[in-house]
Amino acid sequence: MPELRINGLPSSVDVGATVQDAAELVFVEIPTLCHLKGMEPEASCMLCVVKDIATGELIPACSAKAIDGMEIDTECDEVQAARRDILNLLLSEHVGDCEAPCTRICPAHLDIPLMLREIERGNMNSAEWIAKRDLALPATLSHICPAPCEKGCRRSQVDQAITIRELHRFEGSVPYSSNYEITGLTPLSSAPSVVGGKVAVIGSGAAGLSSAWKLWQLGYGCTVFDEAPKAGGTLRDHPDLPMEVLDSEVESLRLAGIEFRLGSSISMHEVTEVFDGVVFAGEEFSGTHFADAFYAEEHKLAVKAVANGKAAAVALDRFLKGAAPASEVRFDSKVGKLRESEVQELVKNCAADEQTGKSAPHVGQAFLPAQSEAGRCLHCDCRKPVGCKLRKYAEKHGADQREFPADERKHVQLIGHNESVVFEPGKCIKCGLCVKITKRAGGALGLAFVGRGFNTQVAVPFGAALQEGLQDAARECVEACPTGALAFRNAEERN
Ligand code: SF4
Ligand code: SF4
Ligand code: SF4
Repeated sequence: MPELRINGLPSSVDVGATVQDAAELVFVEIPTLCHLKGMEPEASCMLCVVKDIATGELIPACSAKAIDGMEIDTECDEVQAARRDILNLLLSEHVGDCEAPCTRICPAHLDIPLMLREIERGNMNSAEWIAKRDLALPATLSHICPAPCEKGCRRSQVDQAITIRELHRFEGSVPYSSNYEITGLTPLSSAPSVVGGKVAVIGSGAAGLSSAWKLWQLGYGCTVFDEAPKAGGTLRDHPDLPMEVLDSEVESLRLAGIEFRLGSSISMHEVTEVFDGVVFAGEEFSGTHFADAFYAEEHKLAVKAVANGKAAAVALDRFLKGAAPASEVRFDSKVGKLRESEVQELVKNCAADEQTGKSAPHVGQAFLPAQSEAGRCLHCDCRKPVGCKLRKYAEKHGADQREFPADERKHVQLIGHNESVVFEPGKCIKCGLCVKITKRAGGALGLAFVGRGFNTQVAVPFGAALQEGLQDAARECVEACPTGALAFRNAEERN
């Protein structure tokens, strides 16, 4: 029985076991994209490199046999640098957007494509909740935001941008609904319990209201202070904003459980004594400094103020929980501007919906104009933004997609858009797992590598439809695929 050390930890495995097996036994995680338990290792991605200290060589843990006396380092700088280079190379030819361009551009980071798909499906409560969750004041913003998201909307390459700003004009109270089955969003049957303590927000402009709302979502009891008699700050001076819209949104926050203390002077003594944390939101507070206070800058662009308010709330939350400040943003693979033919590929996402009638959940009901409008969305976001291992490891290893620019970018392509599974070759890292899984499943066709060199691609032999190649192995292939290359068409992964 070979006995070896993984990062100094003793591990003993059966003869024939791999370094990866030995690491698992002592709970050391080694990243891999191409290896699946129970499958013969290929070491095609090489992300699992580790250092054999005796020889000084980097070896693939998934296929290297464990040898008696081996000393393995899975974390040293050399290993980390090699993994980063491997990821950068994979990303250099990766054609996919983790996030949609519209979401990226929206300062408050509204999950626009998800909201649009929920509108299209007729899940209005769910769509309303997404808008409320991300924007705090979706109806107010729908009147005054200059809609930078629409300027970046890819649909304008086909005809006109989606009217995103109009579509988040939800003027109801906070939607408490149980209709979240598609998105897997957490339903709010009542206000979240106050688990985080009590926090104060000083200032009730867009930044202050957004801070309070985010803190409420994070489970804090929240009180908003303002010397003005009505909440809203400079939003009240906006000529294009009907005041009843703002009033009703403030009221919805109050009904959700946020307390408002308006129209009287603010006792800083009380604030610091009674509350566990405080966010100062407003111009007048810049330059003021209280120990352990957080600042949310108001901004002439209300959506920017909303973003600032959210950021301050998240920073306060992390501070109160003793967590390190959130520094890193999520890794986001970007395709950039699409070629004309590529936009037409994305249009398949809309055409498929029309053909299958997916957007008519209530049989016999006429489509609302909002549903038809939302149905024009191209689904620019990836279908596997959470489960994608490439994204996960790119984030963990600080990968940079621009490190090794490709001479020629592959084309955005969608295959199987009318079926339950969609295949996007531009996101495939050619790990071969789906090929092996379909072979093991024993279907007549399966999947195979076709073509040569740069043009090698996974495909169904003889040009048959994707479903014919996947047969009963569709779910297994989607789950094993380490990226968003193979995904269920209607998947809604979010965390
Ligand atoms: S496959 Fe992964 S890295 Fe690529 S766009 Fe999707 S989530 Fe991002
Ligand atoms: S088409 Fe949809 S997902 Fe793409 S940028 Fe426009 S709104 Fe966003
Ligand atoms: S499509 Fe197949 S070969 Fe490509 S990344 Fe997914 S599982 Fe691997």
